[in-house]
Amino acid sequence: MASSNVSSALQKADPDVFAILQRETKRQHDTLELIASENHVSPAVLEAAGSVFTNKYAEGYPGKRYYGGCQHCDEVESLAIDRAKKLFNVEHANVQPHSGSQANQAVFLAALNPGDQILSLNLNHGGHLSHGMKVNISGKWFNVAQYGVSQKDERIDMAEVRRQARETKPKLIITGASAYPRIWDWAGFAEIAEESGALLMADVAHIAGLIAAGLHPSPVPTSQFVTTTTHKTLRGPRAGLTMCKGDWAKKIDSAIFPGLQGGPLMHIIAAKAVAFGEALRPEFKQYQQQILTNAKALAEALMKHGYRLVSGGTDNHLMLLDLTSGHADVTGAMAEKWLETAGIIVNKNMIPFDQRKPMETSGLRLGTPAVTTRGMQAAQMPTIAGFIHRTLSSNGDTKAVEKVRSEVRELCDQFKMPGE
Ligand SMILES: *Cc1c(COP(=O)(O)O)cnc(C)c1O
Repeated sequence: MASSNVSSALQKADPDVFAILQRETKRQHDTLELIASENHVSPAVLEAAGSVFTNKYAEGYPGKRYYGGCQHCDEVESLAIDRAKKLFNVEHANVQPHSGSQANQAVFLAALNPGDQILSLNLNHGGHLSHGMKVNISGKWFNVAQYGVSQKDERIDMAEVRRQARETKPKLIITGASAYPRIWDWAGFAEIAEESGALLMADVAHIAGLIAAGLHPSPVPTSQFVTTTTHKTLRGPRAGLTMCKGDWAKKIDSAIFPGLQGGPLMHIIAAKAVAFGEALRPEFKQYQQQILTNAKALAEALMKHGYRLVSGGTDNHLMLLDLTSGHADVTGAMAEKWLETAGIIVNKNMIPFDQRKPMETSGLRLGTPAVTTRGMQAAQMPTIAGFIHRTLSSNGDTKAVEKVRSEVRELCDQFKMPGE
């Protein structure tokens, strides 16, 4: 099983690393991956990511490089750019950011100066650390105001966004989240940005695949900047992508190179080209639709077991389970550990107005992109919810968890990983 994508050259040259890779391949096969930000890439994406382009320096952009021998780098980067522009219907795309955080930093470097005011979603309400967390460069170099969800319905409080925008006069308003299960009101944000004279950036790292498939509204028409990772719902290699209106193209490009990065990761850019090509096909839309169907089914099954979900459910690929409903003594950290022992991989997560600390939390974040890639459908979701419920209500009991572990393994054996 599953050794096919690990070359025998590695086995011969470095049995230690080879063995570790084998173990990781088996771990991924044998567990249910419910981390909302993870996915399993296709063999084609994996092959491109592991290709000879890793050997090449290509500082600069297609047609304007600082090194010789870049003709094929130019071809593959131009292809990636064209596909990204088509996929998101955007005027300009830069495919060089090494990660989602760097995709965001490119906007900051292009549009802001240290000390400028930004307005973004509270980290404890689903925001991302690169949007102004105190210890992140974004929090150290900018003045940060944050909006949140309302206590009443746990959806983004647009009245608070407007009030804060009027009060703090941000130069940049940031939308987008790592743990928000509802649809974004891009037009509402655009109106607020316009009236307060702010620029608008949408970080769609989590929902990029849904947007590309037309299953979540696109912020492209209403935002100056749209950033994303390429490895979450988009199912590409681990990396970033910065997009913008045409009038920001020059500034964004020079912010990424030479502003933030040196040589681009051409092997990863090749893999992005492959992933964008996959996302342009009709099957990708079906895949994204199935992610949504599965998330709804998982949410319903969990609620049937008595769990409360933040905001009462989900409109996208993820949900936040509130452990204080039913398991008041169980922290997110404990639940994450027990579930891992049962072969179900999740992450603890703060819920809005959480009384616990970030290393403990009262919530779990669950997402369906990876299990959907393995071909699981709505019919499997009540089974998975049952596994979760048995594990949590056993209080981590060794025997009960072991029983779940063997059933998880059986379920995993019925659903192949890409390339198997
Ligand atoms: C995942 C994520 C990122 C960061 O991605 P990295 O590649 O880990 O730097 C940025 N923004 C949001 C909203 C995310 O969810």
